[in-house]
Amino acid sequence: MIKDNLNTIREGIREACDKSGRDVNDVTLIAVSKFKPLEDLMEAYEAGVRDFGENRVQELVDKYEKMPKDARFHMIGHLQKNKVKYLIGKAVLIHSVDNFELASVIQKESEKAGVITDILIEVNVAKEDTKFGCFTEDALSLVTKISKLPNVRIKGLMTIAPYVEDGEENRQHFVALRQLGIDIDSQNIDNVSMDIYSMGMTCDYKVAVTEGATMVRVGTAIFGERNII
Ligand SMILES: *Cc1c(COP(=O)(O)O)cnc(C)c1O
Repeated sequence: MIKDNLNTIREGIREACDKSGRDVNDVTLIAVSKFKPLEDLMEAYEAGVRDFGENRVQELVDKYEKMPKDARFHMIGHLQKNKVKYLIGKAVLIHSVDNFELASVIQKESEKAGVITDILIEVNVAKEDTKFGCFTEDALSLVTKISKLPNVRIKGLMTIAPYVEDGEENRQHFVALRQLGIDIDSQNIDNVSMDIYSMGMTCDYKVAVTEGATMVRVGTAIFGERNII
């Protein structure tokens, strides 16, 4: 079941790459496994998945400790400052950094652990008031400030687009995130790269890929509906 779902999604990513002249190897599928039991993660692992997305620190850490060592865990949910210390060295990438105070705590904890932590800046391109993320117009100054933190490395941008029936409706938001990344990249800020665009979920991952997503975060289409949101 999970295996068949994965094949369908991989096929969808491949089609979207073909359509837009992209290399399928430039797109990483992150299996969003939040609220799902370890057996489901293992089934995905057996089918070749190595990247998993979680939105709660405790759950990420638990699963990190129980899964095979080459499984990578991405923190994709809103992150509280007091929980950062548990994540350091365990989350391969924190997708949800949207303010300087949070980045400063990541700096402090990373320095303590003697590591550099890779992050993405979460941008609320659609300006939904229910969502976290900085606004597009504030992103450059935030990136510039965070770039001075030696143990934090900005690798790109992330957005959560609105939930839609037709993924096409979100194309404008993916275009906007990509354009923002190109603008930031053109500033050549030390310690900052714009290699990662984390965008696209079950409802719109194909559209996101055609607009340059390098990471798509897909949950429902792989693991089925979640009982809790
Ligand atoms: C839950 C979640 C996803 C996956 O959503 P689906 O619609 O189930 O594919 C992706 N990104 C984030 C940040 C999430 O919280």
